[in-house]
Amino acid sequence: MPGLLRKTYTLEEDLTPVIKGEVELPNIEDLEQHRVLSHIASGGHSFTPKWGYSKIDGHKTWTFFFLFHNQAGGLTGEGYAVRYSSGVEGARTMRFAICKHEKQGGSGADPRRGWHPGHCKLCGLDMTVDSGD
Ligand SMILES: [Zn+2]
Repeated sequence: MPGLLRKTYTLEEDLTPVIKGEVELPNIEDLEQHRVLSHIASGGHSFTPKWGYSKIDGHKTWTFFFLFHNQAGGLTGEGYAVRYSSGVEGARTMRFAICKHEKQGGSGADPRRGWHPGHCKLCGLDMTVDSGD
């Protein structure tokens, strides 16, 4: 779908193939287990938890996903994946991303008021952050 800019990712169209292990887990970044768990502990209320399978190098295995949202409440196509392992090292903990978003600032930014409009220049995701009150 080249050239098609989309604003948000949906569970049905975008994330379901990932969390069913129908496609390879995209753009994996391994993270330490304690770091992932700590972020889930503090910010878990803002993630969407989904259980399923991840596919890595053609192998499907039980995985718990925590999907990220943007400030507008839509899915960003990113998340944490906690992948089962029977080995002594335990679960493999990762970040994944359908798109490695690159933010392009929008017009009208007002950093002093915490207003940072923008979108991903690759996929069009709304990456606006409003940390003001
Ligand atoms: Zn993007």
